[in-house]
Amino acid sequence: MSGRQIRATLHALITRVLDPGLCLGCSHALDPGQYFCDACGNTLKCVSTPCSLCGLDNQSSNSICARCLYDPPRWQKMIAPLVYQGFGRDLLLQLKFSDSLHLANSLTTHLINHFRNSKPAPEVLLPVPLHRKRLLERGYNQAFEIARILSRLLDIPVDTRALHRIRNTDSQSGLSANQREKNILKAFAYATSSSYSHVAVVDDIVTTGSTVNEITKTLHRGGVKYVEVWGIARAFK
Ligand SMILES: [Zn+2]
Ligand SMILES: [Zn+2]
Repeated sequence: MSGRQIRATLHALITRVLDPGLCLGCSHALDPGQYFCDACGNTLKCVSTPCSLCGLDNQSSNSICARCLYDPPRWQKMIAPLVYQGFGRDLLLQLKFSDSLHLANSLTTHLINHFRNSKPAPEVLLPVPLHRKRLLERGYNQAFEIARILSRLLDIPVDTRALHRIRNTDSQSGLSANQREKNILKAFAYATSSSYSHVAVVDDIVTTGSTVNEITKTLHRGGVKYVEVWGIARAFK
């Protein structure tokens, strides 16, 4: 999709948001509190057989794909059900770049069984933190909004004090995997007084995994044994 098409799509979505009660996908009339109809919800594509470590499509009969068996990521599990494309991508772009937190609720509720069926459940949800400066600019942290909804639906507490962003890094978008890794290095701190052993780090979209990789490093160093990465969507490289 070109920049112009993206802007046009966003503009169409925002216009529909300002006219509540219409589906963001097809403009069909909806009940209050709903943001897309069942038919459009059904077009949201999930990864069909995800690898339990990288969340990408896994053709092997193992729960872990061949690439992760050979070179496993630092974290112990990943759940990021939605494929980052089509209608799902439009919705997540809107969640990131415009103030439309209701979408976090619709998307998370739509996908809740993927998280609910994962056992054992983590002790706590840790949203990927924004730097204070970025939070002030944007006014909200979409990772926290998603974690809050997961918490309500799954009855798992959210902790926003344990994990901090101590460096205000440049945006990761547009950077290569290598650049992302350097950009995010030593960006986080974990309050070891938290003494968690099994946590889920929550974000909206997992792309190269460099942010959650750096967070996992920080958490392991702080004594956390089992780190799960929970996202709404997995972007394919
Ligand atoms: Zn619709
Ligand atoms: Zn894998």
